[in-house]
Amino acid sequence: MTSHEAPEADMLPGLRAAVDDARAKAAATRRRKAADWEPATTDPVARVLVDIALAHLDRPFDYAVPQTMADTAAPGARVKVRFAGQDVDGFVVERASTTDHTGRLQPLRRVVSPEPVLLPEVVRLTETLARRYAGARSDVLRLAVPPRHARAEKDTSVPAPPFTGGPTTTWGDVAHADAFLRRLAAAEAPRAVWSAAPADDWPAMVADAVATAYASGRGALVCVPDRRDVDRVDAALTARLGEGHHVCLTADGGPAARYRDFLAVARGARRVVVGTRSAAFAPVHDLGLVVVWDDGDDLHAEPRAPYPHTREVLLTRAEQQGTAALLGAVARTPEAQHLLASGWARELATPRSVLRARVRVEAVPAEDRAVGTRIPRPAYEAIRRGLESGPVLVQTPRAGYAAALACDTCRTPARCSVCTGPLSVPGPVDPPQCRWCGHTEPAWACPTCGGRGLRAPVRGEARTAEELGRMFPGTTVRSSSGDRVLASVGERADVVVATVGAEPVAAKGYAAVVVLDTWLTLARDDLRATEEALRRWLNAAALVRAGGHVVAVGDPAHPILQALVRWDPAGFARREAEERAAAHLPPAARIATLAGDLGALDDALHLLDLPDGAEVLGPVPVADEHRVVLRVPWAHGPALSGALGDLQRLRSARKLDPVRVQVDPLTI
Ligand SMILES: [Zn+2]
Ligand SMILES: [Zn+2]
Repeated sequence: MTSHEAPEADMLPGLRAAVDDARAKAAATRRRKAADWEPATTDPVARVLVDIALAHLDRPFDYAVPQTMADTAAPGARVKVRFAGQDVDGFVVERASTTDHTGRLQPLRRVVSPEPVLLPEVVRLTETLARRYAGARSDVLRLAVPPRHARAEKDTSVPAPPFTGGPTTTWGDVAHADAFLRRLAAAEAPRAVWSAAPADDWPAMVADAVATAYASGRGALVCVPDRRDVDRVDAALTARLGEGHHVCLTADGGPAARYRDFLAVARGARRVVVGTRSAAFAPVHDLGLVVVWDDGDDLHAEPRAPYPHTREVLLTRAEQQGTAALLGAVARTPEAQHLLASGWARELATPRSVLRARVRVEAVPAEDRAVGTRIPRPAYEAIRRGLESGPVLVQTPRAGYAAALACDTCRTPARCSVCTGPLSVPGPVDPPQCRWCGHTEPAWACPTCGGRGLRAPVRGEARTAEELGRMFPGTTVRSSSGDRVLASVGERADVVVATVGAEPVAAKGYAAVVVLDTWLTLARDDLRATEEALRRWLNAAALVRAGGHVVAVGDPAHPILQALVRWDPAGFARREAEERAAAHLPPAARIATLAGDLGALDDALHLLDLPDGAEVLGPVPVADEHRVVLRVPWAHGPALSGALGDLQRLRSARKLDPVRVQVDPLTI
């Protein structure tokens, strides 16, 4: 027995004797076998991360390395080990000459694969992230290393051809880009937050930055929200680097192909990677640059425990491995703004004068809906004029947005006066109630206009395409939404109606972009509603060609629409960061949620040793369980993560009912 055998459960006496007997036999067999192996002559100890999601056992364990496995049980290799009476998978993270373990070490059972798929820097990354998100190391490892595919390991990976560089041509209009690229070329580690401009070919610009780092002898890793973005960057990298230099890591393509590409990276045969969020852990050799595109996109938030965010994963890598970092987006998140304000990164932006020449944006009020059209005259005119020279994009809000209550008069979202959570009405005769802390607001008044009426905004009709077809007879109207998303359209003068997030890219850019029903997107029930609304509009508007026209339909006086009209994502992010600080919301605060049944939550709250200044909001019922929101000032974020990690270890050791911990949930 070693220290990591699990405690035995209570058993019936008869069963116990049978089990003891079987154990004695197994032990005798093991002793016999044990006599058969010689320990490795050098570094006979292997530290192994075992695939067991028990928080209190979440650390490497030492095993003895038999001489027969001396060469194959290398750091990064997959092994089978005996743990708590079972054979379990693990990774060797280190070989050592001695151990602190006082008893006799068990030998490794076998080496599943000598292929070193877990790099030391990824080991360190998973440790930091497990702590940051108060999660299990084995859960992070599962995100970091894809399942093994034995066939793929048999094939060798063809090394990349030599790369000679070439001039960067796409960054000319961006202030301070020359300094950033010069430092990349010199194998330094510059960090930047980049605001892409309308009509920018951002995949080509990313490819240029990657090529610059790559030409300096280093690898690069690019994470984008979805498959369509991967395809665009893939094409741009092929154009810039040529064939055979990069791989795409995405969930699709099948396990064999995915593992083959992963191995090419782990073996150092490919040092340029583009992929979606799971690629953030890719074992790129000599990593010199990490790029995250559009960090405000929900798809960057991992839906599996412990729910790490791509931006956090890549910025942690940049810190730990001393690489350059590029956070690019058309919009800007308060988190990216925070990186600038704290001096962690420098700003790359297109000067106002260039922006003004690139695009003309106006906001126009909606007309009386009783007239029966959603498209006011100025928007109609923009579409008509646009169709004279090319395709026109019309963006409509996505159906199915959960709408929170808003002021009847000015449509400001209604928020709790205690904790700023969203208000909803639980039943027809109930007063409005906070969805976070449960506080009721029987006498709600709008802080913006003083109005007392509340409404749940109604969803826009899905009739836009039909309406446009009647307005522009003879014009082809194409739709892109839901499960029928167009990746791209050509140069033909079609009207392209797309729901938010499903906008196709036009080959030469759109002549005009019209954003409909902006107030519906703003009414989304979410702490990030305004940030997300502006991001969506800017992303659609940025698809315009240079010199194009953008019209947004909504209240022209609304500050978010004004940020769009002025094309000022930076100013918006600054104000948003200030407002969040005033409301004690992220990134000025760190939020975590605990979810589970009431009894389990009660236990958890008793065990939890919260840092100073922590607030506990709730519990309130959410779906079929209850939820507590924990909030601490930003500086106490690591202490909150630490307290939640301690809680998980205590719970796991005492076998208490599960509670789900989520640090920095994207929305609550
Ligand atoms: Zn109001
Ligand atoms: Zn509240």
